[in-house]
Parts: sequence; C-alpha cells; structure tokens
Amino acid sequence: MKLPIYLDYASTTPVDTSVYKKMLCYLKYSGIFGNPASKSHIYGWQAENAVEKSRRSIANLICADTREIIFTSGATESNNLAIKGIACLNKEKKIHIISGKTEHYSVLDTCYALQSKGIELSLLKPQKNGIILPQQLKKELRKNTVLVSLMHVNNETGIIQDIELFGKICRSSGILFHVDATQSIGKIAIDLRKIPVDLMSFNAHKIYGPKGIGVLFIRRRPPIYLKAQMHGGGQENSFRPGTLPVHQIVGMGEACRLIQKKMHEENKKIEKLRKILINGIQEKNKIIFNGDQENNVPHILNISFPGIDSRLILSSLKDLAISTGSACTSGDFHESHVLQSMGVSRLLSSNSIRISLGRFNSEEEIRFAVNHINNIIPNLN
Ligand code: PMP
Repeated sequence: MKLPIYLDYASTTPVDTSVYKKMLCYLKYSGIFGNPASKSHIYGWQAENAVEKSRRSIANLICADTREIIFTSGATESNNLAIKGIACLNKEKKIHIISGKTEHYSVLDTCYALQSKGIELSLLKPQKNGIILPQQLKKELRKNTVLVSLMHVNNETGIIQDIELFGKICRSSGILFHVDATQSIGKIAIDLRKIPVDLMSFNAHKIYGPKGIGVLFIRRRPPIYLKAQMHGGGQENSFRPGTLPVHQIVGMGEACRLIQKKMHEENKKIEKLRKILINGIQEKNKIIFNGDQENNVPHILNISFPGIDSRLILSSLKDLAISTGSACTSGDFHESHVLQSMGVSRLLSSNSIRISLGRFNSEEEIRFAVNHINNIIPNLN
C-alpha cells in the first residue's frame, strides 16, 4: 500500500534515525539498562551518566541549568505539574490564574479543573489574528493573581506569542509565568537566561524524539516552589518521582542536540516549502489564512477553503496525511476552540485544515501535494 505523504508534523514526528540508534543502546543486557537511582554499582552509574548527559543537551537547547530540567511523561504532564503545582501551594488563599482561550487542552482543562475547586480563572481572548496583546494581560492582573500560563506557539495555527513581553510584565508584578513551549521548541531559539519564564513545558515527540517523555523547566533563580503531584521514590528532586526511563531520556537528549544544530537550516528549508505550498495552492483555489501570517512558525499552515467542509477535504485528499484544526468526534463537527476564540465564523472554521511540515518533507513531496490539492479541491466546490 502506498502511504500518504506525511504533512502532520505538529501532531507528532517520526524518531530521527540517530535518536533511534542511540535509544537502542539503552535497553538490552549488553547495553546500558540500569536504574539511574542504583548508586551501588556500575549499571546504575552508567545509566545516571547517560541521563545527566541528556539533561545537559536539553538544558543547552533553552540555555538553562541542568538542575532546572525535570523529566515527565510529556507536555501534558508538565503542564499539569506546573499549573496544579503552583495552585496547590496556595490552597488556603483565594487565588487567581490567567491563561488563554487558545491554549492546548492540557492547559485549559487543568485550569477548568482548578476553577471547579474555587480558583478564579481568566482566559485571555486573542485578537482576530490570534495574538494576545501585552495590555490585555496587564488589564487582567489582580492582587491575588499567582500564575500566568500562556503558550509560545499555537498547535493549530502556528501563531507566535511574545513570551518575552508577557514574562517581563509578570516578573515586574511578582507573578509566576508558565509557558507551554511544545510547538516552539526546536523551531524558535529560546534563551531562558534572557526571557523571564519561570516554568516551561515541552516534549520530545514534536522534535523527532520518542513519545512519552517531556520536561518541565523549573527556574532556580529566583527559586520556584511547586507542589509535586505524585509521591514516590524522590527522583527529580521529588518534583516528579518514578524510575527514570533512560532510553526515552537519551532519545530526548539526542533529539535536542540534533535540533539545536539543525534549527537554522531546517527553518530555512521549511520556509521555502511553505512558500511553494501556499503559492501553488493559491493558483487554483481561493483560500483564507487563519491567523497572523507574520508572527507564525513556517511549519504550521492553517487555511480555510470557503464553502468546502473540512471533513470532505480530508477524505478526498487521500494521498496526504493532514488534519483539521477542528476535531470531529463520531461524525459531529466540533468547532475549533482556537479558531472560535479568534472570531473565525463557525462556517469558515468548518472549512479549515492544518498542514504541518517537517524535517523529512522534500520539495518533490510538496509539489506533489500542491498538484493533488489543485486536482481535487476545485472539484469539491
Ligand atoms: N501542548 C501543545 C501546544 C501541544 O501541541 C501538545 C501535543 N499536541 C501538548 C501540549 C501535549 O503534549 P504531549 O503529547 O507530550 O502530552
């Protein structure tokens, strides 16, 4: 069977061959399989060395200290740990948290869960172009605001938020700032020595590493305290106990090392592919861009084909693996909460698709995709 061309890199990425090869060395008896918490023999020491080496690669990517990197099972867990961890510290007081309407559900649902327990919650609505303005954040700050959680790059639209400005506002108001950087890591250079972010979540599987591993950056200076959400063996400074999955960690470390080296070249290549894609599609179709096209990572393209249902688009473009920003569950159309909060009409939202590009896409594939789209979509009208 000929597989469709993979254009859904924002959903997940395949593991890079060099990551895969590294990971294989950390599983078998003939490799390094020990428990990094075993302090009494070489098996444990070797595993611990591998973990610490990977922690260094991950910290380097964001200009952090290795002691600021806490391993989790992925960005969902990191987001939960960051937000609940801060909220739970302040249990006796009535506290207020600010987040955004276009956040990933791992942030939104965590916030709703806290709201149901009595925590005050404000969700910032972006402008029509998807961007949240600093003055919007300033306006929402209250005396009891303890945490602001805003994403760096949106997973449906690719829109970039100005986390540096948000961070400065939070820092000057004595409020903690958490960033979900899952879609920006490896695409935008992040220097946490300069950006006042206190907590930051990301994972490996969006950057050609394995699924099931992520990190939460927890700043040491000024020190951030948060309440662990699990109890156990004391690993990861007790912030996140549990035996460390060495092969996953080594995979994430290698993925971070690689992407740091490749980021600049890769972005240039993907920008070029995006241009070919957009120009090609526009030759034969009327499209509407969802979101700001200036403040956008090149990897994610969210467009609507007015008058054509996205489910029909997806089922007709059989040779492409793409997705819709709007989730479809058992045939029911659910409007994308991201597009909806940007003021995109329900109708146009139901005509939207997300194409996301990545490391293994070639120009030939993109030209094929353009032809396929141009052959099929105009006939769906
Ligand atoms: N945040 C964002 C912005 C995401 O795109 C995703 C993954 N779709 C997550 C969080 C959750 O990541 P994970 O799969 O590691 O739980």
